[in-house]
Formats: sequence, C-alpha cells, structure tokens
Amino acid sequence: MHFGSLITAVASFLEARKHSGKWLLRIENIDPPREQRGATEAIIAALATYGFEWDGAIRFQADSRSLHDAALESLLAVRHAYPCGCSRSDLEGAELGDLGPIYPGTCRGGTNASATAIRVRTGAKTLTYIDGLQGTQSQCLETESGDFIIRRKDKLIAYQLAVVVDDHDQNVTDIVRGIDLMDSTLRQIWLQKLLGYRTPRYTHIPVAVNAQGQKLAKSTGAAALPKTQVARTLHAALAALRQQPPDELATASCGRIWEWAHDNWNIGRLRAEKAVLFSPDTL
Ligand SMILES: [Zn+2]
Repeated sequence: MHFGSLITAVASFLEARKHSGKWLLRIENIDPPREQRGATEAIIAALATYGFEWDGAIRFQADSRSLHDAALESLLAVRHAYPCGCSRSDLEGAELGDLGPIYPGTCRGGTNASATAIRVRTGAKTLTYIDGLQGTQSQCLETESGDFIIRRKDKLIAYQLAVVVDDHDQNVTDIVRGIDLMDSTLRQIWLQKLLGYRTPRYTHIPVAVNAQGQKLAKSTGAAALPKTQVARTLHAALAALRQQPPDELATASCGRIWEWAHDNWNIGRLRAEKAVLFSPDTL
C-alpha cells in the first residue's frame, strides 16, 4: 500500500463507520499471473498496522469464480452477451474513445473463431447516475465504449463483471473509491441492470497526486507506506482529505487520531474535488 491507497481506505472506512455500516475487505485477485507473491499479505498487514478494522472475513475474489461463471452463463443464455473472436489486429482500426478503443460490434451476429472472448451487448440509451461527490455522470455505452469484454480470451473473468457479482453477493450498499474508477461505474451499472441486481450508491473521492500532478502509484514511484510514523502518516492522510486535523494530533497516538477522525469526518469537504496533492516531504 502507498499513500494513494491509504487515503481511499481512510475515506471509505470513516464513511462506513459514520453511517454505522460495515467495512468489507475484499482482495481482488482474479488475475493470478499478475499477482505479486506476498502482495496480499503485505496489504493486510499494512491495514492492520494503520488501525483499520474490517467486518467479517476477508473475501478473496478468486474464490467466487463459480458465481462469476453463473452470471456469465445467465447473460449468454438470454443473448445479452456473445462470443467475440476478434484479434487485436482485427480491432486496430477501431475508433479510440475516452474508455479505449470502441468495439464496432463485429461479432454481434456471430463468429466462427474457436478462441473467443465474451462481450456484453450495450445499448444506445444514455445511462446516468448521481455520484455522492461528483454529481451527475452520464455515458452512452454503445458509442463511448461499445460492447465490452466480460470474459477474456484466456478465460479470465473481466474486472467489471467480477466486481458487480461480488458486490451483489456481499449485499454492498455503498461504494467509496478513487475517481480513477469512475469511468467504470456506468458499465458496472449496466451489468447490474442486465443481471437484475440493485445498484449501490457510488461516491468517488479524489486521487492523491504528486507535485508533478501524477497519480500516486507504483508506476509513478510512490513509496510503500512506512511501518513507523503511523500517526504522522494518518494525520497527513486526513489533511490531504481536507479534514483539517489539528497540528498537535500529528504526534498523538494512532487510537487518538482515529477517535478524532470518527468524530469529525465530513466527506462533503471533498465535493467535486478530482485530485488532492500529497507531498512525501510533509511526513
Ligand atoms: Zn469481435
């Protein structure tokens, strides 16, 4: 975990507690080839070190493959989804939209290819939802993304489908996450509609950026969270989240900081914010 993932965890944890809700910990490990050895253990250990308390058992996404497959089959059965045999080069001429290449619908009428991905059929109607912090969001999936992949050619279930099935299975009512995932939300809402699921409330908080305006991530050199100076780091997270923690709190105990944060948490201070600056020098 780095500072960017810390602020998302802090915001979602405090928002859940403020509404007397449960905070669920799910490890999204559906892509085993990309998973780094020990990464899961390191995340769980970092959350515990920083005083997070999750409710119930940790859920591992890879364990719910049968649920993902059942949802996929139900979409195929009613032709909301179909096999796509297009190769990368087949799609080279596709128009590039904000969400990536727009699938032109080549295989909507069928394919003879033996190896296929599965795509979900999208509609021409503009979809809308009201985000908890970012206001009304709209997308026309057919023209902005085209039919999108829900199972890859290598048989891995795509993130969009896995997350929707798991949220439903866990009775998730509220999702608080980074704004870098906001583009996925209407594709997820579309899947919820097709599967007959209730749509949770979505709130997208700003991402932490460095002085160059780059999102803090491993690829932009964000350092792992320190194992010492926990209180100071939590204080900096609350400050980045615009909660204005008093200066003297930076040297208080971890427990005292959480107590202050629970009493004073106000997600409204992040309204319409897209990015918050975090400079490691402040630690
Ligand atoms: Zn195709």
